[in-house]
Amino acid sequence: MKLDLTKDFAEYAKDLNQASRDANIQKAMARAVKSYRDTTAETMKRYPHTPDLALEVQGIKTNAIENNPDLLQQAMASVERNKGKAFYAKDAEAALALAAQIIGKGKTVVKGKSMLGEEIHLREYLEEQGTEVWETDLGEFILQLKKERPMHILSPAIHVPREQVAEIFSKFFGKEVPPDIAAEVAQVREFMRDKYFTADVGISGANVVAADTGAMVIIENEGNVRLSTGAPPVHIVMVGIEKIVPTFSDAMKVAEVTWRYAQYGIPGYVNIISGPSKTGDIEKVTTYGAHGPKEFYVIFVDNGRSLMARDERFSQALHCLRCGGCMYECPVFQVTAGHFGYTYLGGIGSIWTAFVSGGLEKAAPLLYTCLRCGRCVERCPMSINVPEMVGQLRKMIVNGEQIGDGDLTLAATVGNASQALSS
Ligand code: SF4
Repeated sequence: MKLDLTKDFAEYAKDLNQASRDANIQKAMARAVKSYRDTTAETMKRYPHTPDLALEVQGIKTNAIENNPDLLQQAMASVERNKGKAFYAKDAEAALALAAQIIGKGKTVVKGKSMLGEEIHLREYLEEQGTEVWETDLGEFILQLKKERPMHILSPAIHVPREQVAEIFSKFFGKEVPPDIAAEVAQVREFMRDKYFTADVGISGANVVAADTGAMVIIENEGNVRLSTGAPPVHIVMVGIEKIVPTFSDAMKVAEVTWRYAQYGIPGYVNIISGPSKTGDIEKVTTYGAHGPKEFYVIFVDNGRSLMARDERFSQALHCLRCGGCMYECPVFQVTAGHFGYTYLGGIGSIWTAFVSGGLEKAAPLLYTCLRCGRCVERCPMSINVPEMVGQLRKMIVNGEQIGDGDLTLAATVGNASQALSS
Protein backbone atom coordinates (compact mmCIF):
# COMPACT_ATOMS: atom_id res chain seq x y z
CA MET A 1 0.00 0.00 0.00
CA LYS A 2 1.28 3.45 -0.90
CA LEU A 3 1.83 5.74 2.09
CA ASP A 4 0.08 9.10 2.11
CA LEU A 5 2.60 11.40 3.78
CA THR A 6 1.45 14.81 2.60
CA LYS A 7 -1.17 15.71 5.23
CA ASP A 8 0.83 14.76 8.32
CA PHE A 9 4.00 16.36 7.00
CA ALA A 10 2.33 19.72 6.37
CA GLU A 11 0.60 19.89 9.76
CA TYR A 12 3.62 18.60 11.57
CA ALA A 13 6.04 21.08 9.94
CA LYS A 14 3.72 23.95 10.87
CA ASP A 15 3.53 22.76 14.46
CA LEU A 16 7.32 22.30 14.70
CA ASN A 17 8.03 25.79 13.32
CA GLN A 18 5.52 27.38 15.67
CA ALA A 19 7.04 25.59 18.65
CA SER A 20 10.53 26.81 17.78
CA ARG A 21 9.25 30.41 18.02
CA ASP A 22 7.25 29.93 21.24
CA ALA A 23 8.82 32.00 24.03
CA ASN A 24 7.35 29.81 26.79
CA ILE A 25 8.88 26.68 25.28
CA GLN A 26 12.27 28.35 24.82
CA LYS A 27 12.30 29.64 28.40
CA ALA A 28 11.25 26.33 29.93
CA MET A 29 13.59 24.21 27.77
CA ALA A 30 16.64 26.38 28.51
CA ARG A 31 15.98 25.95 32.25
CA ALA A 32 15.32 22.20 31.91
CA VAL A 33 18.38 21.34 29.79
CA LYS A 34 20.72 23.22 32.12
CA SER A 35 19.22 21.62 35.20
CA TYR A 36 19.40 18.12 33.62
CA ARG A 37 23.06 18.48 32.62
CA ASP A 38 24.15 19.90 35.98
CA THR A 39 22.31 17.33 38.05
CA THR A 40 23.33 14.36 35.92
CA ALA A 41 27.02 15.33 35.96
CA GLU A 42 26.92 15.63 39.76
CA THR A 43 24.99 12.36 40.15
CA MET A 44 27.41 10.40 37.95
CA LYS A 45 30.34 11.76 39.95
CA ARG A 46 28.74 10.59 43.18
CA TYR A 47 27.83 7.12 41.82
CA PRO A 48 30.70 6.28 39.43
CA HIS A 49 29.71 2.59 39.11
CA THR A 50 26.64 3.59 37.08
CA PRO A 51 28.07 3.21 33.52
CA ASP A 52 29.29 -0.32 34.37
CA LEU A 53 25.88 -1.19 35.76
CA ALA A 54 24.31 0.18 32.57
CA LEU A 55 26.49 -2.22 30.55
CA GLU A 56 25.25 -5.11 32.70
CA VAL A 57 21.67 -3.98 32.16
CA GLN A 58 22.24 -3.95 28.38
CA GLY A 59 22.97 -7.69 28.68
CA ILE A 60 19.91 -8.26 30.87
CA LYS A 61 17.64 -6.46 28.41
CA THR A 62 19.07 -8.27 25.37
CA ASN A 63 18.42 -11.62 27.00
CA ALA A 64 14.97 -10.54 28.25
CA ILE A 65 13.77 -9.34 24.85
CA GLU A 66 15.03 -12.55 23.19
CA ASN A 67 13.07 -14.61 25.69
CA ASN A 68 10.07 -12.33 26.01
CA PRO A 69 7.34 -14.90 25.26
CA ASP A 70 8.62 -17.23 28.00
CA LEU A 71 9.13 -14.41 30.48
CA LEU A 72 5.64 -13.12 29.82
CA GLN A 73 4.12 -16.48 30.67
CA GLN A 74 6.30 -16.72 33.77
CA ALA A 75 5.36 -13.21 34.91
CA MET A 76 1.66 -13.93 34.42
CA ALA A 77 1.94 -17.14 36.44
CA SER A 78 3.77 -15.26 39.22
CA VAL A 79 1.05 -12.60 39.43
CA GLU A 80 -1.62 -15.30 39.70
CA ARG A 81 0.41 -17.12 42.34
CA ASN A 82 0.44 -13.88 44.34
CA LYS A 83 -3.39 -13.79 44.18
CA GLY A 84 -3.52 -11.12 41.51
CA LYS A 85 -5.15 -11.55 38.09
CA ALA A 86 -2.97 -11.37 34.98
CA PHE A 87 -4.10 -10.59 31.43
CA TYR A 88 -2.43 -10.33 28.06
CA ALA A 89 -3.74 -7.66 25.68
CA LYS A 90 -2.56 -8.03 22.11
CA ASP A 91 -3.45 -4.47 21.15
CA ALA A 92 -4.70 -1.14 22.48
CA GLU A 93 -8.37 -2.02 22.00
CA ALA A 94 -8.04 -5.22 24.03
CA ALA A 95 -6.15 -3.38 26.80
CA LEU A 96 -8.78 -0.64 27.02
CA ALA A 97 -11.65 -3.09 27.01
CA LEU A 98 -10.06 -5.09 29.83
CA ALA A 99 -9.45 -1.98 31.93
CA ALA A 100 -13.01 -0.74 31.39
CA GLN A 101 -14.43 -4.13 32.33
CA ILE A 102 -12.44 -4.28 35.56
CA ILE A 103 -13.32 -0.69 36.52
CA GLY A 104 -17.05 -0.96 35.85
CA LYS A 105 -19.53 1.88 35.32
CA GLY A 106 -19.68 5.31 37.00
CA LYS A 107 -16.43 4.96 38.93
CA THR A 108 -13.62 7.32 39.90
CA VAL A 109 -10.02 6.51 38.99
CA VAL A 110 -6.77 8.03 40.23
CA LYS A 111 -3.98 7.46 37.78
CA GLY A 112 -0.18 7.60 37.93
CA LYS A 113 1.94 8.76 35.00
CA SER A 114 2.26 6.12 32.31
CA MET A 115 3.58 6.33 28.76
CA LEU A 116 1.59 3.23 27.92
CA GLY A 117 -1.53 5.07 29.11
CA GLU A 118 -0.69 7.87 26.68
CA GLU A 119 0.01 5.37 23.90
CA ILE A 120 -3.44 3.79 24.15
CA HIS A 121 -5.23 7.06 25.14
CA LEU A 122 -6.38 5.50 28.40
CA ARG A 123 -7.72 8.59 30.18
CA GLU A 124 -9.66 9.81 27.16
CA TYR A 125 -11.16 6.35 26.63
CA LEU A 126 -12.24 5.95 30.24
CA GLU A 127 -13.73 9.44 30.32
CA GLU A 128 -15.78 8.59 27.24
CA GLN A 129 -17.08 5.57 29.18
CA GLY A 130 -18.30 7.89 31.94
CA THR A 131 -15.41 7.29 34.36
CA GLU A 132 -14.03 10.23 36.33
CA VAL A 133 -10.25 10.13 35.92
CA TRP A 134 -7.68 12.23 37.77
CA GLU A 135 -4.05 12.42 36.72
CA THR A 136 -2.15 12.49 40.01
CA ASP A 137 1.33 13.26 38.67
CA LEU A 138 1.72 17.03 38.93
CA GLY A 139 2.90 17.49 35.34
CA GLU A 140 0.15 15.24 33.96
CA PHE A 141 -2.43 17.10 36.07
CA ILE A 142 -1.32 20.42 34.55
CA LEU A 143 -1.71 18.90 31.08
CA GLN A 144 -5.09 17.39 31.96
CA LEU A 145 -6.31 20.90 32.82
CA LYS A 146 -4.57 22.40 29.79
CA LYS A 147 -5.99 19.62 27.54
CA GLU A 148 -2.57 18.94 26.06
CA ARG A 149 -0.32 15.96 25.59
CA PRO A 150 3.01 15.40 27.43
CA MET A 151 6.10 17.12 26.06
CA HIS A 152 8.63 14.84 27.76
CA ILE A 153 8.38 11.24 28.95
CA LEU A 154 9.49 12.07 32.50
CA SER A 155 8.59 15.72 32.82
CA PRO A 156 5.37 15.92 30.83
CA ALA A 157 4.78 19.64 31.47
CA ILE A 158 8.40 20.61 30.85
CA HIS A 159 7.30 23.33 28.42
CA VAL A 160 4.96 25.10 30.85
CA PRO A 161 6.72 27.73 32.98
CA ARG A 162 5.50 28.57 36.50
CA GLU A 163 3.79 31.76 35.34
CA GLN A 164 1.53 29.80 33.01
CA VAL A 165 0.90 27.13 35.66
CA ALA A 166 -0.31 29.89 37.99
CA GLU A 167 -2.79 31.10 35.38
CA ILE A 168 -4.12 27.57 34.75
CA PHE A 169 -4.49 26.80 38.47
CA SER A 170 -6.08 30.16 39.30
CA LYS A 171 -8.75 29.46 36.70
CA PHE A 172 -9.36 25.84 37.78
CA PHE A 173 -9.37 26.40 41.54
CA GLY A 174 -11.29 29.66 41.25
CA LYS A 175 -8.82 31.63 43.36
CA GLU A 176 -5.54 33.45 42.90
CA VAL A 177 -2.59 31.00 42.82
CA PRO A 178 0.73 32.91 42.70
CA PRO A 179 3.51 31.99 40.20
CA ASP A 180 5.42 30.37 43.03
CA ILE A 181 6.25 26.69 42.53
CA ALA A 182 5.87 25.73 46.21
CA ALA A 183 2.44 27.37 46.36
CA GLU A 184 1.37 25.66 43.13
CA VAL A 185 2.44 22.24 44.43
CA ALA A 186 0.68 22.81 47.77
CA GLN A 187 -2.56 23.69 46.00
CA VAL A 188 -2.59 20.42 44.03
CA ARG A 189 -1.65 18.40 47.11
CA GLU A 190 -4.65 19.75 48.98
CA PHE A 191 -7.00 19.09 46.05
CA MET A 192 -5.72 15.55 45.37
CA ARG A 193 -5.84 14.26 48.97
CA ASP A 194 -9.55 13.67 48.87
CA LYS A 195 -9.39 12.02 45.42
CA TYR A 196 -7.01 9.28 46.61
CA PHE A 197 -9.29 8.21 49.44
CA THR A 198 -12.59 8.36 47.58
CA ALA A 199 -11.44 6.80 44.28
CA ASP A 200 -12.68 3.31 43.40
CA VAL A 201 -9.62 2.29 41.38
CA GLY A 202 -5.95 3.25 41.13
CA ILE A 203 -4.11 2.72 37.84
CA SER A 204 -0.34 2.72 37.45
CA GLY A 205 2.30 1.61 34.99
CA ALA A 206 5.53 -0.13 36.02
CA ASN A 207 9.15 0.67 35.19
CA VAL A 208 10.19 -2.96 35.29
CA VAL A 209 8.61 -6.32 36.10
CA ALA A 210 10.40 -9.35 37.59
CA ALA A 211 9.13 -12.56 35.99
CA ASP A 212 10.29 -14.84 38.81
CA THR A 213 8.36 -13.05 41.55
CA GLY A 214 5.72 -11.04 39.69
CA ALA A 215 7.07 -7.89 41.37
CA MET A 216 6.20 -4.57 39.71
CA VAL A 217 8.84 -1.91 40.35
CA ILE A 218 7.54 1.64 40.08
CA ILE A 219 9.90 4.58 40.47
CA GLU A 220 8.56 7.97 41.54
CA ASN A 221 9.35 11.13 43.44
CA GLU A 222 6.04 12.77 44.26
CA GLY A 223 4.44 10.03 46.38
CA ASN A 224 1.36 10.13 44.15
CA VAL A 225 1.93 6.55 42.93
CA ARG A 226 2.14 5.36 46.52
CA LEU A 227 -1.22 6.93 47.30
CA SER A 228 -3.00 5.99 44.07
CA THR A 229 -1.86 2.37 44.21
CA GLY A 230 -2.32 2.03 47.98
CA ALA A 231 -5.49 3.90 48.93
CA PRO A 232 -8.25 2.70 46.52
CA PRO A 233 -9.68 -0.83 46.95
CA VAL A 234 -8.61 -1.89 43.43
CA HIS A 235 -5.22 -1.49 41.73
CA ILE A 236 -4.67 -2.08 38.01
CA VAL A 237 -1.16 -2.15 36.55
CA MET A 238 -0.96 -1.63 32.79
CA VAL A 239 2.51 -2.41 31.50
CA GLY A 240 4.23 -3.10 28.17
CA ILE A 241 5.53 -6.65 27.72
CA GLU A 242 9.05 -5.33 27.06
CA LYS A 243 9.36 -4.30 30.71
CA ILE A 244 9.71 -7.90 31.92
CA VAL A 245 13.14 -9.16 33.03
CA PRO A 246 13.94 -12.61 34.44
CA THR A 247 14.64 -11.97 38.11
CA PHE A 248 14.00 -9.57 40.96
CA SER A 249 17.70 -8.84 41.18
CA ASP A 250 17.75 -7.97 37.43
CA ALA A 251 14.77 -5.70 37.98
CA MET A 252 16.54 -3.73 40.70
CA LYS A 253 19.56 -3.21 38.44
CA VAL A 254 17.31 -1.96 35.63
CA ALA A 255 15.56 0.34 38.09
CA GLU A 256 18.80 1.83 39.42
CA VAL A 257 20.12 2.57 35.91
CA THR A 258 16.76 4.06 34.93
CA TRP A 259 16.60 6.56 37.78
CA ARG A 260 20.30 7.43 37.60
CA TYR A 261 20.06 8.40 33.91
CA ALA A 262 16.83 10.19 34.72
CA GLN A 263 19.08 12.44 36.84
CA TYR A 264 18.32 11.05 40.29
CA GLY A 265 20.90 9.80 42.76
CA ILE A 266 18.04 7.97 44.39
CA PRO A 267 14.36 8.64 43.70
CA GLY A 268 11.95 9.70 46.43
CA TYR A 269 10.20 6.34 46.36
CA VAL A 270 10.67 2.92 44.80
CA ASN A 271 7.43 0.97 45.01
CA ILE A 272 7.52 -2.82 44.78
CA ILE A 273 4.05 -4.25 44.39
CA SER A 274 3.36 -7.91 43.78
CA GLY A 275 -0.26 -8.55 44.72
CA PRO A 276 -3.25 -7.41 46.76
CA SER A 277 -2.67 -6.23 50.32
CA LYS A 278 -2.96 -8.95 52.92
CA THR A 279 -2.57 -9.78 56.60
CA GLY A 280 -2.12 -12.95 58.60
CA ASP A 281 -2.22 -11.24 61.96
CA ILE A 282 -5.37 -12.87 63.26
CA GLU A 283 -4.93 -16.61 63.86
CA LYS A 284 -2.38 -16.71 61.00
CA VAL A 285 -5.26 -16.80 58.53
CA THR A 286 -4.27 -14.93 55.34
CA THR A 287 -6.91 -12.34 54.56
CA TYR A 288 -6.79 -10.12 51.46
CA GLY A 289 -7.60 -6.42 51.54
CA ALA A 290 -5.90 -5.08 54.66
CA HIS A 291 -4.94 -1.40 54.39
CA GLY A 292 -4.20 -1.50 50.67
CA PRO A 293 -6.20 -2.77 47.66
CA LYS A 294 -8.12 -6.01 47.96
CA GLU A 295 -8.02 -6.59 44.21
CA PHE A 296 -4.89 -6.48 42.05
CA TYR A 297 -4.86 -6.80 38.25
CA VAL A 298 -2.00 -6.68 35.77
CA ILE A 299 -2.64 -6.10 32.06
CA PHE A 300 0.44 -6.93 29.96
CA VAL A 301 0.15 -5.00 26.72
CA ASP A 302 1.76 -6.00 23.43
CA ASN A 303 0.42 -3.53 20.83
CA GLY A 304 3.26 -4.03 18.33
CA ARG A 305 6.08 -4.79 20.76
CA SER A 306 6.40 -8.45 19.79
CA LEU A 307 6.80 -7.40 16.15
CA MET A 308 9.64 -5.11 17.18
CA ALA A 309 11.20 -7.89 19.28
CA ARG A 310 11.32 -10.27 16.34
CA ASP A 311 12.89 -7.83 13.87
CA GLU A 312 16.61 -7.75 14.60
CA ARG A 313 16.94 -4.34 12.95
CA PHE A 314 14.70 -2.79 15.61
CA SER A 315 14.58 -5.05 18.68
CA GLN A 316 17.18 -2.89 20.43
CA ALA A 317 14.60 -0.09 20.64
CA LEU A 318 12.79 -2.25 23.22
CA HIS A 319 15.77 -1.81 25.55
CA CYS A 320 14.67 1.79 26.12
CA LEU A 321 14.32 2.44 29.85
CA ARG A 322 12.40 5.69 29.33
CA CYS A 323 14.97 7.61 31.33
CA GLY A 324 14.43 10.59 29.04
CA GLY A 325 18.13 11.47 28.91
CA CYS A 326 18.43 11.44 25.11
CA MET A 327 15.77 14.12 24.74
CA TYR A 328 17.72 16.75 26.65
CA GLU A 329 20.67 16.22 24.31
CA CYS A 330 18.65 16.16 21.07
CA PRO A 331 19.22 19.43 19.15
CA VAL A 332 15.69 19.35 17.71
CA PHE A 333 14.01 18.58 21.03
CA GLN A 334 15.93 21.41 22.70
CA VAL A 335 14.09 24.00 20.60
CA THR A 336 10.75 22.30 20.00
CA ALA A 337 10.20 20.16 23.15
CA GLY A 338 7.68 17.39 22.62
CA HIS A 339 6.52 18.80 19.29
CA PHE A 340 9.23 16.47 17.88
CA GLY A 341 6.95 13.48 18.30
CA TYR A 342 3.42 12.50 19.28
CA THR A 343 3.27 10.15 22.26
CA TYR A 344 6.84 8.92 22.06
CA LEU A 345 9.28 11.73 21.49
CA GLY A 346 12.63 12.44 19.87
CA GLY A 347 14.60 9.99 17.73
CA ILE A 348 13.74 6.94 19.83
CA GLY A 349 10.13 8.11 19.74
CA SER A 350 10.06 7.97 15.95
CA ILE A 351 10.87 4.25 16.08
CA TRP A 352 8.28 3.55 18.77
CA THR A 353 5.70 5.55 16.85
CA ALA A 354 6.29 3.36 13.79
CA PHE A 355 5.65 0.15 15.74
CA VAL A 356 3.13 0.91 18.48
CA SER A 357 1.58 4.26 17.87
CA GLY A 358 0.40 4.85 14.32
CA GLY A 359 2.68 2.99 11.91
CA LEU A 360 5.15 4.24 9.32
CA GLU A 361 2.77 6.80 7.91
CA LYS A 362 2.50 8.55 11.28
CA ALA A 363 6.20 8.12 12.03
CA ALA A 364 7.46 9.42 8.69
CA PRO A 365 7.58 13.14 9.59
CA LEU A 366 9.50 12.29 12.76
CA LEU A 367 11.90 10.00 10.92
CA TYR A 368 12.75 12.85 8.55
CA THR A 369 13.08 15.38 11.40
CA CYS A 370 15.79 13.34 13.13
CA LEU A 371 19.21 14.75 12.21
CA ARG A 372 20.88 11.37 12.86
CA CYS A 373 23.61 13.28 14.70
CA GLY A 374 24.07 10.48 17.24
CA ARG A 375 24.10 12.67 20.35
CA CYS A 376 21.30 10.49 21.78
CA VAL A 377 23.46 7.36 21.45
CA GLU A 378 26.18 9.01 23.54
CA ARG A 379 23.74 9.83 26.33
CA CYS A 380 21.73 6.59 26.23
CA PRO A 381 22.53 4.06 29.00
CA MET A 382 21.50 1.29 26.60
CA SER A 383 23.55 2.74 23.68
CA ILE A 384 20.51 2.36 21.46
CA ASN A 385 21.55 3.07 17.89
CA VAL A 386 18.70 5.36 16.99
CA PRO A 387 20.31 6.91 13.87
CA GLU A 388 20.83 3.45 12.34
CA MET A 389 17.21 2.44 12.98
CA VAL A 390 15.93 5.75 11.63
CA GLY A 391 17.91 5.02 8.44
CA GLN A 392 16.35 1.53 8.21
CA LEU A 393 12.84 2.89 8.61
CA ARG A 394 13.45 5.57 5.98
CA LYS A 395 14.56 2.76 3.63
CA MET A 396 11.31 0.91 4.35
CA ILE A 397 9.33 4.05 3.47
CA VAL A 398 11.21 4.47 0.20
CA ASN A 399 10.70 0.78 -0.65
CA GLY A 400 7.00 0.91 0.24
CA GLU A 401 7.39 -1.71 3.01
CA GLN A 402 5.02 -1.91 5.99
CA ILE A 403 5.73 -2.79 9.61
CA GLY A 404 5.48 -6.52 10.44
CA ASP A 405 3.09 -7.73 7.77
CA GLY A 406 1.16 -10.79 8.88
CA ASP A 407 3.35 -11.66 11.87
CA LEU A 408 1.10 -12.53 14.78
CA THR A 409 2.81 -15.61 16.17
CA LEU A 410 3.41 -14.33 19.66
CA ALA A 411 -0.12 -13.11 20.10
CA ALA A 412 -1.33 -16.63 19.35
CA THR A 413 1.14 -18.17 21.81
CA VAL A 414 0.53 -15.99 24.81
CA GLY A 415 -3.12 -15.39 24.07
CA ASN A 416 -3.68 -18.91 25.39
CA ALA A 417 -2.08 -17.99 28.69
CA SER A 418 -4.31 -15.01 29.24
CA GLN A 419 -7.20 -15.27 31.66
CA ALA A 420 -10.75 -14.50 30.63
CA LEU A 421 -12.27 -11.99 33.03
CA SER A 422 -15.35 -14.09 33.43
CA SER A 423 -13.36 -17.17 34.50
S1 SF4 B 1 16.58 5.88 24.20
FE1 SF4 B 1 18.10 5.62 25.82
S2 SF4 B 1 18.43 7.71 26.64
FE2 SF4 B 1 16.51 7.75 25.45
S3 SF4 B 1 14.88 7.38 26.94
FE3 SF4 B 1 15.45 5.38 26.07
S4 SF4 B 1 17.04 4.55 27.46
FE4 SF4 B 1 16.84 6.75 27.93
